[in-house]
Amino acid sequence: MLDAKCPECNDRAQLSDDMTTIKCKKCGYSDSYENYIEKMKTNAINLADNFQFKGNV
Ligand SMILES: [Zn+2]
Repeated sequence: MLDAKCPECNDRAQLSDDMTTIKCKKCGYSDSYENYIEKMKTNAINLADNFQFKGNV
């Protein structure tokens, strides 16, 4: 099992050895690796927006 960052609680989530599913024991998040990557991309975009917003205020 490989460790990855959980997109829901930012704790450690586990990626299955075949890299198809990711699961977080802490919050119960579970998704396919493909969806996980998309979710992390979306989170990164949201974070960038937040930083820009803060910078403007
Ligand atoms: Zn989690």
